[in-house]
Amino acid sequence: MVTWIKDPAVAWTGNKNKASRGVLVSEGRILELVEESPQAEFDEIYDASGLVLIPGLINCHHHFYQTLTRALPAALNKELFPWLASLYPVWSNLTEHSVRASTRTAVCELLLSGCTTTVDHHYVFSEALNRAIDVQAEEIQSLGIRAVLTRGSMSLSQENGGLPPSNVVQAEDVILKESQRLIDQWHDRSEGAMLQIALAPCSPFSVTEELMSASAQLALEKKVLLHTHLAETSGENSFCEKLYGCRPLDYLERVGWLSSKVWLAHGIHFSPEEIQRIGSAKTGICHCPSSNMMLASGLCPVQELRAAGAAVGLGVDGSSSNDSSNLMQELRQAYLLQRLRLGAEQFSHIDALELATKEGARLLNREDIGQIREGACADLALFGTDELRFAGAHDLLAALVLSGAHRAQAVMVGGEWRVRNGELVDVDLQEILENQKKAALALI
Ligand SMILES: [Zn+2]
Repeated sequence: MVTWIKDPAVAWTGNKNKASRGVLVSEGRILELVEESPQAEFDEIYDASGLVLIPGLINCHHHFYQTLTRALPAALNKELFPWLASLYPVWSNLTEHSVRASTRTAVCELLLSGCTTTVDHHYVFSEALNRAIDVQAEEIQSLGIRAVLTRGSMSLSQENGGLPPSNVVQAEDVILKESQRLIDQWHDRSEGAMLQIALAPCSPFSVTEELMSASAQLALEKKVLLHTHLAETSGENSFCEKLYGCRPLDYLERVGWLSSKVWLAHGIHFSPEEIQRIGSAKTGICHCPSSNMMLASGLCPVQELRAAGAAVGLGVDGSSSNDSSNLMQELRQAYLLQRLRLGAEQFSHIDALELATKEGARLLNREDIGQIREGACADLALFGTDELRFAGAHDLLAALVLSGAHRAQAVMVGGEWRVRNGELVDVDLQEILENQKKAALALI
């Protein structure tokens, strides 16, 4: 079956290619970019007139389970460490059922915002949650989004100088054994992979140095990526200096993590010299603007990191510090925040779109997603502009960012429609909302 996504109002490919009359899609791939008329035969037409076509968005950092603790009174108006301390006891009540409900909620919200690839970082493994990543993998497959599920971990409890309480940390041999099992069971190494696994010890203040090193070794052996939080707050710098005798980036290098096979959530508190080291290593940074503003963590030096050679992607972060999983809205937050930091001429709507598309793909070491080009995965998002917020707009691509698009009209992942006419395909949204509500109430 060959589908012609025909005559969008605007097509932004993310590269120099033009597709003013749309694209042909076949067997999960982009077959042809159409400029005048299609060269290949086609079987059906999707009328994209009036819509803005862009590559499907890539979300590089999330904690799906946190959709269950949105706007939680105990966590309001706090910065990172006290915010975490107020939430750990609540998260220790998570069950397989609540992980399933929250995964479905987060993925549906992401899809509706034009996201076609997402990362999740699940790091709370209480006794009842051994199968948390398996549950997520099942739901990811059922909903049809492309994903990198990271096996998070915490092993440094309060008694040993860390931040989390003992009932949410695990023994390191268990963490490593489970990490290995999950890679063997779920990680797809093929081009066009729909599901991959990465290893993600949570942060310098919640895992030991030994676990960081052992995870790097296992990732190297298994050829998977590594992910963690780093340089999110100035408090983390002080913590690292006190516990490890160095700054977070020195610590990262010491445990074998400064490489292009690693991406870091936040990456705010770096010195100019550290930015150069990250760029030379081609380590990825996931910018999470809403979360950084919510927790007053600071401002990520996005353009400096990019100029140094780092891949800088975009993430909504967990929904306890956002508290939304809308990637298109996040793109606008990045646009506004970086302009405030750098000046209006230094960060355009194209820069913001690039973070959420091809830069995110580079961060995830993927060449098959993030751009519209022949042979790439058919991951596409189409946004309508027939709303009051766009009325009178001249440059419709810029308007998606400036006027604040928030819901896609159509979304395709690997050639399959997951959103059509602004609605999820074959998903009972009401059931998802009810389950989520019950699961959230059961946590507190
Ligand atoms: Zn996070």
